[in-house]
Amino acid sequence: MTRTQPTPAAFGKKQFASDNYSGITPESWEALQSANVGHAPAYGDDAWTGKACDLIRDFFETDCEVFFVFNGTAANALVLSSMCQSYHSIVCHEKAHVATDECSAPEFFTHGCKVLPVAGDHGKIGLEQAEAMIANRTDLHFPKPKALSVTQSTELGTVYTPDELHELCELGKRHEMQVHMDGARFAYALASLDIAPKEITWKLGVDALCFGGTKIGMPVGDAVVFFNKDLAREFEFRCKQAGQLDSKMRFISASWIGMLESGAMLKYAQHANQCAQILAEKLSTIPGISLLEPVDVNACFVELPASVAAGLRERGWHFYMFIGDNGARLMCSWDTSEADIDNLVADIRELAKELL
Ligand SMILES: *Cc1c(COP(=O)(O)O)cnc(C)c1O
Repeated sequence: MTRTQPTPAAFGKKQFASDNYSGITPESWEALQSANVGHAPAYGDDAWTGKACDLIRDFFETDCEVFFVFNGTAANALVLSSMCQSYHSIVCHEKAHVATDECSAPEFFTHGCKVLPVAGDHGKIGLEQAEAMIANRTDLHFPKPKALSVTQSTELGTVYTPDELHELCELGKRHEMQVHMDGARFAYALASLDIAPKEITWKLGVDALCFGGTKIGMPVGDAVVFFNKDLAREFEFRCKQAGQLDSKMRFISASWIGMLESGAMLKYAQHANQCAQILAEKLSTIPGISLLEPVDVNACFVELPASVAAGLRERGWHFYMFIGDNGARLMCSWDTSEADIDNLVADIRELAKELL
């Protein structure tokens, strides 16, 4: 890690690099503060954790098993390791976080599962491509496909419709696979679809969901939600062994209470999604700038000419290039304002003018 001193200039400006650049929502912060009283049992045996698990069960309207871990990588890798033996494989989209951004944690925690990336438009697993991948090898010289991992919302800012998910779950079940949902941005997908959580999870056959907290404005911690309770057996041991059992767990779980009980989670997700719509509309009026993906949630993928990208960086903007050389990802957060959007758009407009 490079050592840089925090400066107001670097940290004051609201960025569009990622929804984990933003801070903590007031609801989450207040809930943490209210948990910071006196002593409480450690390792999740506290009242806040019990309540947060109940709220998550209410949220999904089912009796699921809930665990809290520190982040999404751990949630994904540990869930996949509860689904798979070492000789199994995991089918996912080629842009999936589990395939591209977890430093082989799924392979490591499953003790050798092969991740099988498949193509598909707009970051969604193509049904035919997945079917072909699964059917390609069924002999014992190739790892047996056991988990189908879908990301909702996707890495490209799109959302699987309930029908699309239904078809994928059917495919998984047909091949006796478990369905894992990477929901690092599940809240944004829910807000986008405006649907009850159960309608895009267990009712379709999702076995386990990694429900992200940080990207919707919590400080730390993802909820692992097992709809298929058989998979949850001894999961607490997996968490402990992996260094993912928080001894002061109330400071993960209290945030969830703050965000769920007040309805803040969906409110902020709607807000950030709306911001991305506004950003997309404004960007599309700039000659030379084009959108690369549909904007279903809080991300805009945009083609930025190299000089515009360089100019933006000079002006202090942070962002990731995600698609090819020129495809930038711009993400809105719970605290993005229309003024923030206007600041960014004004800079892009000025820089793009120089191209003409
Ligand atoms: C951010 C993210 C994760 C989790 O990342 P962590 O940094 O480990 O919390 C998982 N999946 C997707 C799709 C993500 O965007």
